[in-house]
Amino acid sequence: MSTMVLASPSRYVQGAGVLGSLGEHLAKIGTSPLVVADDRVWELVGSTVAESLEAAGLPVVRVGFGTYATAAAVDSLVERITTDGHDVVVGLGGGSVIDAAKAAGHLAGIRWASVPTAASSDAPCSALSVIYTEDGEFEEYRFFPSNPHLVLIDTAVVAHAPARFLVGGIGDALATWVEARAVAAGTGDTMAGGRPTATGTALARLSWELLWENALPALDAVRARVVTPALEKVVEANTLLSGLGFESGGLAAAHAIHNGLTAAPQTHGLTHGEKVNIGTLTQLVLEGAPTEEIEDFIVFTTRVGLPNTLTEVGLTPDSPELAAVAAAATAEGETIHAMPFPVSAEQVVSALKAIEGISRRVRAETGLPEPVAYVAGH
Ligand SMILES: [Zn+2]
Repeated sequence: MSTMVLASPSRYVQGAGVLGSLGEHLAKIGTSPLVVADDRVWELVGSTVAESLEAAGLPVVRVGFGTYATAAAVDSLVERITTDGHDVVVGLGGGSVIDAAKAAGHLAGIRWASVPTAASSDAPCSALSVIYTEDGEFEEYRFFPSNPHLVLIDTAVVAHAPARFLVGGIGDALATWVEARAVAAGTGDTMAGGRPTATGTALARLSWELLWENALPALDAVRARVVTPALEKVVEANTLLSGLGFESGGLAAAHAIHNGLTAAPQTHGLTHGEKVNIGTLTQLVLEGAPTEEIEDFIVFTTRVGLPNTLTEVGLTPDSPELAAVAAAATAEGETIHAMPFPVSAEQVVSALKAIEGISRRVRAETGLPEPVAYVAGH
């Protein structure tokens, strides 16, 4: 008999203006919060957060953050938490600061809350963090015995974040169903540490359906800096459904290929979801998905603004780095081994090479623009 596991945060709060109630929600889980946020985020929402905490009778203590959730960044947060006696740590900002806060809260033995300022990844809800090197290369997954005690996302803040962040979140969330259905078809475990429940798999599917229906109008809303029902749906799909869906429905090839891509310096500077989208299309090719599904996926993700060619992530079918990407994607312990069939590095290289021509053909046939080469900054 196999064991099935579903994991979820204790409370999820979403809506326009909910950041103003952060203090009220935090006061239920702690008395001495440490808010982790970089300067840019704090400049945008710091006054709202501070007023909310003060109104709830909580002290306002904020610490800055760099770019990546590195082991060193996590350790320095743990030191700050233990020295100053905080009892809840709040990751305020993007996926990296949230992952760092979760990892620090776990190591320090206190509660943690995720307060994303964009719907840019499915990191906020899960009981795991992705740790990167100082250069932004994937280092490891860290798993925790519990999920965040609170996830709070203000859709008015999301509406004012750059559209590219929402595009990335859509890329991350589109992978969820493609990966969850592969895990359900196989015998591997999910990130929650067991076989998927029917619930976990269904949540992944719902995320896909909401995105297919609402992603394009939600992007229109963010470009107009307004909250609409379509944006609310996409924020829920990217943050809650994809979060529950990837953790309890399972990751497979798409995220393993994303992790492999971080090993190629040409991809640095791209968002998590942009790289994940290359992984999702590559997985569809690897599993021999129906041609219509692959073509629909290329058309849809091109319209969303996600890369679906190697060109758009700084690579070509001739890049020598593809071998290293595939080797990293198929490393022992990677989620690609949850696919319902064995996958070798050679198969991954072939599928990666194949997506360039497929996407170029489909885009040409449907009147969509040719890919523009990505050049990593320094
Ligand atoms: Zn992801």
